[in-house]
Amino acid sequence: MKAAIYHGREDVRVEETEPQSLGPADVRVAVGACGICGSDLHEYAEGPIAIPEDEPHPLTGETLPLTIGHEFAGRVTETGADVDAPVAGDTVVVNPIIGCGECQYCTAGEHSLCDRLMNVGIHGGGGGFAETVVVPAENAVSLPDDLSPEDGALVEPLGVGLHAVRRSGLSAGDTAAVFGAGPIGLAVLQSALAAGAREVYVSEPRAARRELAEQLGATEVVDPRTSDPVRAIKAATDGGTHTAFEVAGVDETLTQAVRTTRKTGTTVVVSVYEAAATLQPNLVMMGERNLVGSYGYRGGPSSRQGEFATVIRMLQDGRLDADPMITGRIGLDDIVEEGFERLRDPESDHVKILVTP
Ligand SMILES: [Zn+2]
Ligand SMILES: [Zn+2]
Repeated sequence: MKAAIYHGREDVRVEETEPQSLGPADVRVAVGACGICGSDLHEYAEGPIAIPEDEPHPLTGETLPLTIGHEFAGRVTETGADVDAPVAGDTVVVNPIIGCGECQYCTAGEHSLCDRLMNVGIHGGGGGFAETVVVPAENAVSLPDDLSPEDGALVEPLGVGLHAVRRSGLSAGDTAAVFGAGPIGLAVLQSALAAGAREVYVSEPRAARRELAEQLGATEVVDPRTSDPVRAIKAATDGGTHTAFEVAGVDETLTQAVRTTRKTGTTVVVSVYEAAATLQPNLVMMGERNLVGSYGYRGGPSSRQGEFATVIRMLQDGRLDADPMITGRIGLDDIVEEGFERLRDPESDHVKILVTP
């Protein structure tokens, strides 16, 4: 079968590879759509970062070259002997987070915090940029008939946004600021509105992304290249927001996010930083502000009951919307030129590009 295989920085090749073997608790999924994530782009442009290079991953035992892609949905074609659900023919979205099952976090149901955490499509175990992937059945979440595999491919990034809003403690009637309107920033915006935020302000330098944020319900969007987002948002909210989300991975935006919150407000770090950021801790101390992290969403055996299931319901009833975020659809053979290269172009209007193997 064909798969996009990561060999190293700027070296992703579409190659023929052997289909994975199927264990008794596994299902084989024929991928219908797989999104290119910001972290895939980081791996392509600056990596390997999380992809194991020299040291084999403790759970998968793999190092590069390996198949990538972790935001995917498709149809179940084969099930292991011990699997009751899903059944062959079902459309599923895959939760890529797998824990060791033994550490204190896995035991507490917090598999995304596992000491030996693995992400399908990052750390080995196959990936969504391939014709088929084998995953544990418990990580395959059934998609209702009224949602497409394309909607399914957006469940993962929307899950990141939902989890970030839950981490923020945002309550109905609160105000929020989102720094960065890429796929995750737009997912945070949607979840914050669904959680009952009274106003959500968005700071984003790219015009196409500002437009999308407006379309998805942002109260006001700010271009940080032409006006100071901290001043603008503080003025509009009588001194600052209850919550702020750092979704840009840029040094200045962390400080901007914290400064935008009112005293006792909460800033959530959602993005991956490539380097250390400078933040004056007095901003946190003097205003009794909170700074919290948000990583992924719950996975492993809680895939079906947890945030993936919630996102699926919210897509069904329209509180979350995947369509506006999808700006491109390409075949697997075009993943480098039409996918990674387009997304890394700073002038690009793309948000989420879906790959169909
Ligand atoms: Zn992702
Ligand atoms: Zn664990």
